[in-house]
Amino acid sequence: RLTFEFCDRLVEDFEKVIEHPIVGKSSVYYTGVDLGTACVVLAVLDENYRPAAGAYRYADVVRDGMVVDYIGAVNLVREMKRELEEKLGTELTFAAAAIPPGTETIDSGAVKNVVQAAGFELTNLLDEPTAANEVLKMQNGAIVDIGGGTTGISILVGGKVDYVEDEPTGGTHFSLVISGAYKLPFAEADQYKRNPKNHKELLPVLKPVIEKISSIITRHVTGYDVKEISLVGGTACLAGIEEIIEKRTGIYTHKPKNPLFVTPLGIALSC
Ligand code: ATP
Repeated sequence: RLTFEFCDRLVEDFEKVIEHPIVGKSSVYYTGVDLGTACVVLAVLDENYRPAAGAYRYADVVRDGMVVDYIGAVNLVREMKRELEEKLGTELTFAAAAIPPGTETIDSGAVKNVVQAAGFELTNLLDEPTAANEVLKMQNGAIVDIGGGTTGISILVGGKVDYVEDEPTGGTHFSLVISGAYKLPFAEADQYKRNPKNHKELLPVLKPVIEKISSIITRHVTGYDVKEISLVGGTACLAGIEEIIEKRTGIYTHKPKNPLFVTPLGIALSC
């Protein structure tokens, strides 16, 4: 599919520069800061908007899209910024950030303050699906962001976000199901779930929850001309989730190579 070629190449190049940053080739850098529930990601692009460096940390500073540990978030972003500056041998000045749709009035201030307090000049603050679509470049499709507490469905019409809704089913429910089935405490179940080695074994156990998410997607896209779905968010990392969703919704379902890197790259592209 032509549509996702840009996304797949960008994510692949970004994964490479996380390991091996491209040093000294650019006069200016643009950083995308993504404060997620599972993961905080900094994506650095060069003057041609090509990946130059990147870093990610599993952290507990954001929950359900809200900053719950302000000082922790500032310290973490500052530390990651410094680490990337050392690798690139230059100061990172400009950054953009994103917030979940519909939280503008509640939390955009916190996200903005975190990025600025970490030492960046904030050039743009946009909503997450718009950021993701900078990378996905869908015209008529749906971005399904399967996070921790919720699944966000954003429908694009003519390349613009036309409809967004959040439903309270997400990765937390997957962990609860695993916790019950394997008699494990929640934290251990969550850790077990994140290990790609366990995904094949877990898929049949998690199928009913994935089917529930699929029926939620179907309900929201009904009435729209949705030709394709792209999955983002931490829970989309589960191997095989895309096949069940595609089968149940009957809509072509794309999963980026790393669903956690799409939004931060889109944020950086908007910087
Ligand atoms: P929310 O929906 O709660 O607002 P968010 O969109 O910021 O949060 P993400 O960081 O995208 O959330 O996703 C968090 C979820 O992803 C957690 O349930 C976590 O267990 C799950 N997760 C992270 N990595 C993996 C993995 N490799 N395999 C399966 N699940 C994963």
